This record gives sequence, C-alpha cells and structure tokens, in this order.
Amino acid sequence: MQFTDSHCHLDDIAFSEQLPILLAQCHQLAINRIIIPSIAPNNFNQVLSLAKRHHNNPIKVYPCLGIHPWFLKGLDDSHLKQLSEIVNKSRNDIVAIGEIGLDGTIAKNAETHGQTSADNWHHQQHFFDFQLNLAKEQNLPVIVHHRQSHDKIMPFLKRYKLNRAGIIHGFTGSYQQAKGYIDLGFRLGVGSTITYSRAKKTINTIKRLPLGSLVLETDAPSMPLSKEVTGKEILTTNLNKEPAKNRMTLHSLANSPINLIKIFEVLATIHPEKPDKIAHQLERNIEQVFFT
Ligand SMILES: [Zn+2]
Repeated sequence: MQFTDSHCHLDDIAFSEQLPILLAQCHQLAINRIIIPSIAPNNFNQVLSLAKRHHNNPIKVYPCLGIHPWFLKGLDDSHLKQLSEIVNKSRNDIVAIGEIGLDGTIAKNAETHGQTSADNWHHQQHFFDFQLNLAKEQNLPVIVHHRQSHDKIMPFLKRYKLNRAGIIHGFTGSYQQAKGYIDLGFRLGVGSTITYSRAKKTINTIKRLPLGSLVLETDAPSMPLSKEVTGKEILTTNLNKEPAKNRMTLHSLANSPINLIKIFEVLATIHPEKPDKIAHQLERNIEQVFFT
C-alpha cells in the first residue's frame, strides 16, 4: 500500500527542525507523496523552495499556490497580481491553486476587528472568485477550505465548472452537501474529523460515499486527531535512534503527516472494502486530481 497526504502544511515552522526525521518516518510508513498548499503571499516562496529541495527524495513534495481566507487581512489586488505572476512562473512545478475558500466564522467575527461582516464576505468572495478564475485559466485543480460556508461556496463552483475540479479540504457535512460537490467532479478530503466518534454526521456521510470520491489528508500541524485513536503508538523504529529532544518535539506536535495512517485505519473501519483495495483507490483518486 502507498499513501499520499493531500493536504499538509509541511513548510510550517513546527516541522522545520525535524523535517529529515519526519520524512524518513513517512517513507517507512509508505507515505510517499505530500501535497503542500500555501496560505498567503509570505509563504509562496517557502512552499516552492521546500518542494525543490526534496525533489530527489523518495518522498515527493508537491507545492500549491493560493491565498487562504484566514489570511486576507491587509491584502488587496496587488497580492492577487503577485499570485498570478508566481503561478505563471511556477506553472510546471505546482499541482493546484490552494488553499482558497470561504469561511463563515471569519465573516461572523469580523466585527471584533473593525470590519462589517458584509465587507468581510465581500473581501473573501473577491479573493475566492479571482483564484477560481486563475485555476480555470491555468487548467489547475483547486483545494477549497470551507467552514460554515457550503451554501456560499457551491454557487461559485457551479459557475466556474472547473475542468479538473479539485478537493473540498477537511470535508465535514451532510450526504447532500457531499453529493453536490461530487456531482461537480470534486473529491472530498478525509482528515482527522473521522477519528472523533462524536462526528457522527460526517462519519455517516463518508460511509455512504463511493471510494472514488475520497482522498486522505492530515492538514498537519493543525487538526489534531482524537485521543481515541492517538492512544495507540505508531511512531516506529528510526525515531527511537534519534536524540530524545527530537522525540519530544515530534510527540508534542498537534498533528503530523505520519498520522495519515491513523486516518486511513479509521476510514478502513467505516468502509466495507478491504484495506488494500481502499488504499489503491485513494491513490488513483490522487492521480486523477493532481497528476493527469
Ligand atoms: Zn490547510
């Protein structure tokens, strides 16, 4: 079995010191591809250079470029122009536009930052619209962040009808919402949410969906898994040979790409097919989203 983490912020400072150990561990666990979305103009180059540095590794690291709705404060059209330019320049290196999207809780809380909720939605939608258009122009898939925003995202995706669609990252929601995205050609990112037994709605949705519509992701270093599954140790041999200091740091991370295996194991308990069949199909889905 081979695995791909379709969403990991590997350029995050939380990983910088232990990156070689972490990638060696991923390799041991057959996590051989990691897709890294960018989040704001100040990490575009970081994400691109990280991917370049690991170009010859057994583990391939693939960058994406985009502006996340959480980081729009102080950004304007000049940043969108900057994004277009770097996408043009790096078109052959990147595998998607992301992460982009709309976030309802950010809009709701805008007032505490001196902006009306309506102005915040407008700002978010302007950036989302521009980036969907960029994906269309460049024939790239998108990685979409959502939170309390399915009803706002869907009309945009219907309007753009992106040829290569993309991934609804960290999907949580109902079967109907999932179906809406799948009908537009999107895959749903299955992450730590399914490791929480209280997330019944999302678990039941994922259970009913065809394997062809799912991909795995950790969103590390954020989105920690439930203690219900992290209780069991999966860190293996190599790490134990490293100095204790490194061990401590890795353990204290909220989430790491090696947890992809835990998420896969949980998915294998809620889907009736055999684990190797599930893994095989998930890798095919990754191929279809990013590499065709
Ligand atoms: Zn993310």
